[in-house]
Amino acid sequence: MSNLPSEPEFEQAYKGLENSSLFEKNPEYKTALKVVSIPERVIQFRVVWEDDNGVLQVNNGYRVQYNSALGPYKGGLRFHPTVNLSILKFLGFEQIFKNALTGLNMGGGKGGADFEPKGKSDNEIRRFCDSFMRELCKHIGAETDVPAGDIGVGGREVGYLFGTYKRQRNKWEGMVTGKGGNWGGSLIRPEATGYGLVYYVEQMLKYAGKGNFSGKRVAISGSGNVAQYAALKCIELGATVVSLSDSKGSLIAEGDAGFKPEDVEAIADIKLARQPLTAYEHKGAFKYIEGARPWVHVGKVDVALPSATQNEVSEDEAKTLVSNGCLFIAEGSNMGCTQEAIDVFEAERKEKGGEAIWYAPGKASNCGGVAVSGLEMAQNSQRISWTREEVDERLKLIMKEAFENGLNTAKEYVEAKEGELPSLVAGSNIAGFVKVVQAMHDQGDWWESM
Ligand code: GLU
Repeated sequence: MSNLPSEPEFEQAYKGLENSSLFEKNPEYKTALKVVSIPERVIQFRVVWEDDNGVLQVNNGYRVQYNSALGPYKGGLRFHPTVNLSILKFLGFEQIFKNALTGLNMGGGKGGADFEPKGKSDNEIRRFCDSFMRELCKHIGAETDVPAGDIGVGGREVGYLFGTYKRQRNKWEGMVTGKGGNWGGSLIRPEATGYGLVYYVEQMLKYAGKGNFSGKRVAISGSGNVAQYAALKCIELGATVVSLSDSKGSLIAEGDAGFKPEDVEAIADIKLARQPLTAYEHKGAFKYIEGARPWVHVGKVDVALPSATQNEVSEDEAKTLVSNGCLFIAEGSNMGCTQEAIDVFEAERKEKGGEAIWYAPGKASNCGGVAVSGLEMAQNSQRISWTREEVDERLKLIMKEAFENGLNTAKEYVEAKEGELPSLVAGSNIAGFVKVVQAMHDQGDWWESM
């Protein structure tokens, strides 16, 4: 029994893995699970900064250095008022296995602060990032721990964070990813999570014999970096995107047209200015539903891509998606679905075989972001930049392999009826976990007790 304080989000992520059929077949892995679930190191620090009125402000900063079996700790920084250790431990825990599924050499970590970027000026953001990195720079580096963006941290914040690191440590190194294109960033990194999600779903569609994105209706939640590029890629591939949202409400497309690229681009500008979706002057093409997520308001859709934040699909919303004929749900967010929602999707999949809804967990379907971060690290090490086409091709291949890895592992470990679609959640959980704990075993981090 743990005597830790209650960590609901972390416990949810942990239980998702613990319930896997792997531990019935391989009980020795129970020891490994015990070891891997404790972070190698947690750093918590004070961030003092000055707002535009000259008033002192203070926040909690964190970095959870979870696991370094496969490479330097790697994972984003989240700036959001809800950030606490439970949130960062769940994100870091998921990140370990996600990074393993990319096939690249990256360990797992996550960090951030309980800082609210909304309503802050650019100068306030810069001063906060500077203060945050003055402490964090003592604990990270290109060979140690390589942060990146997450909710509330994009290209602008990464630039400020990089600048402070360089000044403090007197080193120009690839210690953060998502950098600007002309100073060490990789092409396609901003697009990578959203594009990768769509490439992953393309594999699902193909395997299930349901064609491609052309003509499909797609519901997307969120309006940040992941949702924006997922929407643009869906539109490019001939799908109709029917929703986007933020924490205050949802925009639902009226009629059959859906979002156009110009709508998505205008919304991206609004979000860069840290404004709510209500600031979008759309001239009546959309219905705005205050305080609601899109799922029960989108009607019939073929594909749902939760791309906002954790636990953004409830059991009831899952049931509505199923009864409205949605066949594919893949997370662009981390732990986008509650466990109850996943249970609804998984029960359907088992019951209805090939015609059922098919669910993909974020650790597989959204691994494209961190995968291109890994490619950015590789380019930085070589001091060269690859072309857009080269990065995009590699991203496609990584998403295909992440899909096949989860699929084939499910076929190997999980009993299934004839014609049933393999469980991507079980397969991806097992594939990521086994890869990491085998490396830990080789490195002497755990062993079978006599
Ligand atoms: N925050 C992203 C994720 O959840 C990206 C992490 C990275 O690029 O290191 O995977």
